[in-house]
Amino acid sequence: MRLYGKDGLKARLDGIAAMGRLPHAILLSGHAGCGKKSLARYIAQLFLCGNNACGQCAACRNIEHDGHPDVIFVKALLGGKYSMEPLRGVLRDTVIKPNNGDLKIYVFEDADTMTPQHQNALLKLIEEPAEHLRFIFTCVNTSLILETILSRVTEFEVPDTGVNACAQCLSDSGVDAQRARELSEMFAGNISECRAVLDGGDEMKLIETAQNIAAAIGRHDKFGTASALTEQQGRDDFARTIEYLTRIIRDALALRCGGEAEFFGRNEAQSIAAGFSEEEILGMLDAAFELAENEIYNLNLALTTAYFTSKVFGG
Ligand SMILES: [Zn+2]
Repeated sequence: MRLYGKDGLKARLDGIAAMGRLPHAILLSGHAGCGKKSLARYIAQLFLCGNNACGQCAACRNIEHDGHPDVIFVKALLGGKYSMEPLRGVLRDTVIKPNNGDLKIYVFEDADTMTPQHQNALLKLIEEPAEHLRFIFTCVNTSLILETILSRVTEFEVPDTGVNACAQCLSDSGVDAQRARELSEMFAGNISECRAVLDGGDEMKLIETAQNIAAAIGRHDKFGTASALTEQQGRDDFARTIEYLTRIIRDALALRCGGEAEFFGRNEAQSIAAGFSEEEILGMLDAAFELAENEIYNLNLALTTAYFTSKVFGG
């Protein structure tokens, strides 16, 4: 399996596996969309292939397509969300021996979305694992994982894919090379986000709205900012748009501090950086975070907009 932008980590895991020392419980931490799930599949192959994750054998191919009966993606199995009773059911099934080989691998994706109770329910299993069990956790935020779990897993930090490797990955999967490069640059090499755009949906429209808001801020156009903000329909779209806006503002801050812009909206970031002080941009970022964190937008949109523009422009 090709892992894009992960050569160093892959070599490390290969080395550990070759010595027969893959830990029985592994935590993969890294940014959202950096490729943790692909890596979990690869580690499952290292466990089950018997030939260094050859990619050719039935086990490897089944794992690559999430069709191996002994590699269980728990969150997906539970319908995309952890909840207590179904989780207990899955944990009870761990006593059942593997179908094909010697091992059964449980992947707990987004383990940082499990409550402390969910995590506690796993604890015994990881502490005293049966011979045939292996565990792989993935998470963005390690601080949401219980200390008792952390002390029993071996953590590997998964690096970001990077713009070049991401573009390569997209073009290998059939996306036009120039489009692949464009998208990869827009999303700072985040494969998942590029795919979200390619899969259709409204992402591009939301990004455009975020750019419009940022452009209006850059022009010191309070009215334009307010009207771009109220273009939104629905809370989810609003939240996504604000998330994208946040990235542009973050890029503006980076530019202001002598760094580089990472995401779409470089021009807009440039004009904000040129027209506002570092402190003002920090204030904007705060205001955007507040919106994104849902503190404000339980109010109606007009109030939210008024709040944001007053924070950005004063008054
Ligand atoms: Zn294989």
